[in-house]
Amino acid sequence: MFERFLAGKTAIVTGSNSGIGLGVAHRLAKAGADIVLNSFTDRDEDHALAQKLAEEHGVNVRYIMADMSKGDDCRALIDKAGRCDILVNNAGIQHVAPIPDFPVAKWDAIIAINLTSAFHTTAAALPVMREAGWGRIVNIASAHGLTASTYKSAYVAAKHGLVGFTKVTALETAREPITCNAICPGYVLTPLVEAQIPDTMKEYDMTREQVIQNVMLERQPSKEFATVEQMGDTAVFLCSDAAAQITGTTISVDGGWTAL
Ligand code: NAD
Repeated sequence: MFERFLAGKTAIVTGSNSGIGLGVAHRLAKAGADIVLNSFTDRDEDHALAQKLAEEHGVNVRYIMADMSKGDDCRALIDKAGRCDILVNNAGIQHVAPIPDFPVAKWDAIIAINLTSAFHTTAAALPVMREAGWGRIVNIASAHGLTASTYKSAYVAAKHGLVGFTKVTALETAREPITCNAICPGYVLTPLVEAQIPDTMKEYDMTREQVIQNVMLERQPSKEFATVEQMGDTAVFLCSDAAAQITGTTISVDGGWTAL
């Protein structure tokens, strides 16, 4: 959809060497945008990923290392990119534990990476977007930005915070050609979700398929995972003219989870 209408734009996608971030980067590149991939590692494979994406879609792709748990790194990512027409705040981690046992370091890391990083990148990106006279900010929140689950206190708090931050960003840019929205995915089978399967298998004494169907997709009425391509196409739509008046809202891509 929307053939190469983003040619000449630069999109920065945080946490994009895997999963949803990489899927979003692919779809934005397919729509013609130059891409900045990011994660906290600096491996040959990260740079090779950038080269592969560039060759596949005929756009410029750079990989810039920046640790989204560190405010200075978040801001430096935008500076180093030089341009930022589209900002996708996607980096995120998860940890599951009851509140009394929740490790403080994990709480701090989840709030920093899943929420505070978006504040820093947005603060650095807005002046750049204003200078260019156009901008799109897409925050990858979650169904957990709208609903809660046990044992995910930090994640649910961060994602609800990100939805709130999305609304404030939209209000502060409402009179400008800049929009800010949040995509709220249900379960998408990415490394973040894969990592939760073995512990859940042990906890409930279930097979992998039982965990997927009875635990993960229990709240997803479609009984199917959403895909990274669907997240990417939703982000592309939010960058289109059709979405120019869509700002400060959430778009659920969750197989009906939040309709329950
Ligand atoms: P993933 O583990 O595949 O990807 C997470 C990305 O974040 C990776 O590229 C990782 O390198 C990066 N990252 C982690 N810590 C970082 C740091 N300190 N600095 C920079 N990058 C960092 O997971 P995913 O499922 O693709 O998750 C992407 C986003 O989507 C997250 O914000 C997650 O909360 C959200 N989400 C995922 C699902 C799902 O079911 N997979 C559902 C709802 C929301």
